[in-house]
Amino acid sequence: MNTVLSVASEVAPLIKTGGLADVVGALPAAMKPEGWRLITLVPGYPQVMERLENPRRVRRERYCFGGPGNVLADEVAGLELLVLEAPHLYDRPGSIYLGADGLDWPDNPERFAALSWVAARLAANGIDGIDVDVLHAHDWQGALAPLYLQEMAADDAVGTLLTVHNIAFHGWAEPAKLRAMRLPRALYTHELLEYHGRVNALKAGLVTANRISTVSPTYARELLTPEYGMGLDGVIRTREADLTGILNGIDEVAWDPAKDPAITPYKSPRGKAKNKTALLKEFDLKPGKGPLCVVISRLTEQKGLDLLLQCLHVLAERDARLALLGTGEAWLEEAWRKAAAEVPGVAVKIGYDEALSHRMIAGADAILIPSRFEPCGLTQLYGLRYGTMPLVADTGGLSDTVIDANVAALSMGVATGIKFNPVAAPQLREALNRLCDIYDSDDGFVTMQKNGMAQPVGWAASAPRYAALYESLRCPD
Ligand code: ADP
Repeated sequence: MNTVLSVASEVAPLIKTGGLADVVGALPAAMKPEGWRLITLVPGYPQVMERLENPRRVRRERYCFGGPGNVLADEVAGLELLVLEAPHLYDRPGSIYLGADGLDWPDNPERFAALSWVAARLAANGIDGIDVDVLHAHDWQGALAPLYLQEMAADDAVGTLLTVHNIAFHGWAEPAKLRAMRLPRALYTHELLEYHGRVNALKAGLVTANRISTVSPTYARELLTPEYGMGLDGVIRTREADLTGILNGIDEVAWDPAKDPAITPYKSPRGKAKNKTALLKEFDLKPGKGPLCVVISRLTEQKGLDLLLQCLHVLAERDARLALLGTGEAWLEEAWRKAAAEVPGVAVKIGYDEALSHRMIAGADAILIPSRFEPCGLTQLYGLRYGTMPLVADTGGLSDTVIDANVAALSMGVATGIKFNPVAAPQLREALNRLCDIYDSDDGFVTMQKNGMAQPVGWAASAPRYAALYESLRCPD
């Protein structure tokens, strides 16, 4: 079987802060039927170490970026894992990226340089006698791996792929860290590592990986523009011929309304009623005439939830309800707490709660995703599968996965949700009013729920695309 070494800073169900973990965790099972074996390398955070059952050391790193390290192999939750055990880098409490002060860990450049360097080493030398065909790096935390591999490998037998899950995070480091990151000064050039006077790990990956992918076709096009490219659009334009957008799928076993152990299971929109009653109760909300909407999100600028704060009066006017679950930037957490205290029909839980997110998707009529940019987005896909109508900004993967309830789509009976554009408060208000109108129309709403539930949102379409991409990178036998 062909082998891919996948390297990432998160993998579900072991350690997750966002959609990256879901995708890295789902790809191995999705790719197996396509004839590709994926082995996933992740850092040995406490959350990962405590899940290991039968770890076997496959490599020793005597001096791993400031201390001793080991690469441990194990199978956890059906995943073939390699774990970089390096306590000086990863054994610390709290967030995997941020210290207690809310700022990046100061040694993040070394922490993820180490991960990428070890990935390159394993790709070059093989893993316990298994040759690696493709090195698949995810986001900036893995983005230096193709460059290290280029530096250490005598030939180019291993193809490299960089997947961009979010272009907003670049992996900055001061040039004084070059030596600690095992990056020769000669590589610190405008063509490669340097970006406005600092090291930019993502840029290095974008320049050196043989192929680049991102997580939806629309985001792939958006990345080429100054509006969405976050300063790297120029670099990406030079790689346009090597760039592909492949839509993420969801884990259809974990997210199956007919079998979900966290909810009262159902197979048709009507079956949602019990879950809705339970959800209203859980958030201490009274039933209203309008739809029960939910938000499940990181609370950051990206997600546009400050815009939603400006539109809450629409929901109040239409007697709709809103339950929000999220965690993130302090000012947004505070603003949402305040909204819950002041606006009737709005309830908020600040925190991260996987089981509650299932209950919310099952019980709600609609899920709101007003993102300013969204590489793919997973929660609209959960919404579709659970008959919970997505109301989304018309951007990135949200554009690719939701069919707007415009006149044409409604007349053909194919609509699955509501899209709005540009991403601004007046347009969001109008979209919320449209949602309430459709909800009032009852039959129209149920038709859209059924359309959503019938839409394929798994990996069936995307797995062959990744397989073709891997195949294009594999060295002929
Ligand atoms: P992003 O990766 O930008 O955060 P995605 O929509 O791609 O956005 O993925 C977010 C994932 O994280 C989804 O699986 C979503 O359900 C989950 N999630 C986000 N916030 C929370 C939360 N507070 N509690 C539980 N799950 C959450």
